[in-house]
Amino acid sequence: MIKRTLLFFLTLSLCLTIFSFIREDNSGPEKQKIIKTIIVDAGHGIMENGGHNGAKGSYSYEDDICLAVSKELVKNFHDEIPEIKIIESRPTEKITAIHRRAEIANENNGDLFICVHVNAAVPQRHSELIGHKKVTYYTGKGKNRKKKTKDVPQYRTYTTPNPAKGTETYIWGAHKNEDKEVAMRENAVVMQEENYKTNYGDVDLNSPEFIALSLLKTKQYFKRSATLAGYVQDEFFKVGRVDRDVRQRGVGIWVLQATAMPSILVETGYITNRAEEDYLNSKEGQKEIADCITRAVKTYIDWLEKQQQSSGTDTGRNNQNTRQNDITSFLNRIEEKEKNIIR
Ligand SMILES: [Zn+2]
Repeated sequence: MIKRTLLFFLTLSLCLTIFSFIREDNSGPEKQKIIKTIIVDAGHGIMENGGHNGAKGSYSYEDDICLAVSKELVKNFHDEIPEIKIIESRPTEKITAIHRRAEIANENNGDLFICVHVNAAVPQRHSELIGHKKVTYYTGKGKNRKKKTKDVPQYRTYTTPNPAKGTETYIWGAHKNEDKEVAMRENAVVMQEENYKTNYGDVDLNSPEFIALSLLKTKQYFKRSATLAGYVQDEFFKVGRVDRDVRQRGVGIWVLQATAMPSILVETGYITNRAEEDYLNSKEGQKEIADCITRAVKTYIDWLEKQQQSSGTDTGRNNQNTRQNDITSFLNRIEEKEKNIIR
């Protein structure tokens, strides 16, 4: 069963790879539009029952910030790269089911998938000595029984907001097995959906088949996703944000796994850090974040075009063999990259 399923996924994945190369190699003498469609995915959203779905700050919600930043981003893209079609997977305050987000991206033949999220950290627990209490106890038996007292230290436990701050950009890394907690938090949204089984089938996100498929997809898109993620973090660093770097998730975020295109998830800051919460809720902050991502995407497009120019000299006689070689060398390069720490 597993073997057959694996074979199916292998074939499917190979078809996807070949298809993506056919699309890219189809340039001819004219300069080809390397990116035609970008999907902007505002995280979370208001649920059917009116409740918020994302993380919560001291006065604001992740859902609202994700939407506001995504709207700025869409506006930037329309202004600065008008030739590229922009699709919003969550255009209103209402939630879009996770499986639907991936469908929207795939149905529209997206070339890039950008998820906008806000991070949260659990409060820090502290314990403080607040004094001593006299406690009576007895020793001995019968005549020797004596009453005694002793001082027992008294503690107060309390929490303070977690000072964690800064930005992280995630890509799907099937071979890593860390950051489980964060991934669970994002995946929990999938589990909350009523028709989980109908929408996702009997898919176990940790099953060998699913991981195998994800791994193959990762190899295809890893390099591009990692490159863009690096550019995004570079831009954040340039404007003085705390750069928590590019990270991979082994127990992934479903949308990053399910989209057949390079995908990144940007955690734009910590809603649990009061200063960052203010920044994330300010018009200036939202614009700055969107500007950073926009500059990164433009740098990424330049990079892709350079890659295409350096490898696209023989596109006129692109037979199956050269295409196959391209795929092999592409996968090898990604393999190489995966051995090193990204960036
Ligand atoms: Zn989130």
